[in-house]
Amino acid sequence: MNAIKRAVKDIIIVGGGTSGWMTAATLSQQFKNSTVNITLIESSAMGTIGVGEATIPTLRRFYTKLGFSDIEVLKATNATCKLGIKFKGWSGDESSFIHPFGLFGQEVNSVAFHHYFTKLRQSGDTSPFADYSLGVKLAQNNKFVPPKITPKNQLEIFDWALHFDAGLFAQLMRDYSISNGVKLVDCKVEQANLNKITGDIESLQLENGLTLSADLFIDCSGFSALLIEKTLKTGYEDWSQYLVCDTAVAIQSELIGDPVPYTISHAQKAGWQWQIPLQNRMGNGIVFSHEFVSKDEAIDSMLKNIAGKLLNEPRSFSFTPGRRKKSWNKNCIAVGLASGFLEPLESTSIALVETAIEKISSFLAEAEFSQEDADKFNYAMAQEYERVRDFIILHYKLNGRTDSPMWQHCRDLAIPQTLTDKIAAFKSKGDIIRYPWEIFGKDSWLAIFDGLDFKADAYDKSIDKFSIELLSNELKKMRNGIKTNAENTQTHSDFLKQYCGFKE
Ligand SMILES: Cc1cc2nc3c(=O)[nH]c(=O)nc-3n(C[C@H](O)[C@H](O)[C@H](O)COP(=O)(O)OP(=O)(O)OC[C@H]3O[C@@H](n4cnc5c(N)ncnc54)[C@H](O)[C@@H]3O)c2cc1C
Repeated sequence: MNAIKRAVKDIIIVGGGTSGWMTAATLSQQFKNSTVNITLIESSAMGTIGVGEATIPTLRRFYTKLGFSDIEVLKATNATCKLGIKFKGWSGDESSFIHPFGLFGQEVNSVAFHHYFTKLRQSGDTSPFADYSLGVKLAQNNKFVPPKITPKNQLEIFDWALHFDAGLFAQLMRDYSISNGVKLVDCKVEQANLNKITGDIESLQLENGLTLSADLFIDCSGFSALLIEKTLKTGYEDWSQYLVCDTAVAIQSELIGDPVPYTISHAQKAGWQWQIPLQNRMGNGIVFSHEFVSKDEAIDSMLKNIAGKLLNEPRSFSFTPGRRKKSWNKNCIAVGLASGFLEPLESTSIALVETAIEKISSFLAEAEFSQEDADKFNYAMAQEYERVRDFIILHYKLNGRTDSPMWQHCRDLAIPQTLTDKIAAFKSKGDIIRYPWEIFGKDSWLAIFDGLDFKADAYDKSIDKFSIELLSNELKKMRNGIKTNAENTQTHSDFLKQYCGFKE
């Protein structure tokens, strides 16, 4: 019964933000020479959320599939390159570390590098874990070069993403979709009409009096979740028992100096501040818990850290961390903010949009879908959201700040069992548990553990056959190789000047 296939001839996407146009772009490529019609309804009067500027490397694979090159997208969106995130102050005001998109060290005899590092550290070596990552070294020195296509060894492996103007990126996706035949309707959706027997969405009534029907509706209407929640009442899994931040304020400022090739996440009294450099300006914002700091105080503390002239008024957002109980309900699939939200600490929202689109595209390969597809989709999306949630909670759980009750509260909070197990396995054995559907791999977890000064007590004993002296020499060679490699790389600004027409 579950596997009964329903043909899809007409798809309506509601919402013209980043998620709506990214969905339209992929589906328009897929159905370009077919009989499937795609319509996107957006309301220019209502506008989009207008934030979401830091990404992770999966974004590059997303637009590459559509045929865009990195340089095209960098130029079109005033983007800069992102090698990772610099976390300032998460273990106390003077602390700082970088979570890179890349590896740490070289695995030997199938034993992960961090076991060698732990053994050497336990013998008294004080070399920082960060010195074994080319991604970190490039970022620390404001250098940038795209990674080699065929690296010589793991020491050369890193990845990168973009800091971009989300509005310009949506525009790029929009032009692409329209050139592929997507029909755009600029009008507010007033309400959805349901089939009285099946409960499916049959049609949408627009403010201009039109009624549009489709077989499949994709809800990209942002926080309003017009179809998935207001219409279908799908329900929301609230995760505020784990993540206390519930408010964000964003503001743009002039760029002062060269743009750095990393996002900054700077811990504050009751939250954290982001700084995202674009070629033409800086994106700033603060995420905080209104239970622990007033909005005025949070904004004041953010403004103190902004060097450039402010370019607009602060914009506030309230949110509930969590996810829709089902992202696919009946003939409606929610993508983007309509499907859930986790604070942008690891720049994951757009990545979750990409993974949703990838799955939708594969389920619709034959222009049909079944309840079984919806169930599989819901399972996978739930897993992905939960794994990202755990990774974000990790930052709060291991924080070392003492300047306000919020930070102690976050250390004391109960955490999901999946995360408890992961932390315990690392502490006791140096193991990193891998769950299915995780966006962040082993080295990302290692970066946060090390950055927040959380050390493994043990290492893989099979490496005891190597003497400390041998390990010390080999690891020194790794550090030196990475250092030289980073020193010989051009600056991030020079890269942008050379390939993207960046002017200081
Ligand atoms: C403070 C903050 C910071 C963020 N930072 C990052 C980040 O650094 N990295 C990252 O990956 N993500 C980030 N995000 C998330 C990111 O902004 C979103 O995931 C992304 O922009 C996608 O949004 P969306 O398209 O789902 O929704 P929106 O941009 O809100 O678009 C919704 C669309 O639906 C339309 N619409 C709504 N109702 C109707 C209606 N009735 N009729 C017709 N049209 C309608 C709107 O007009 C709009 O076009 C951040 C979010 C916030 C709140």
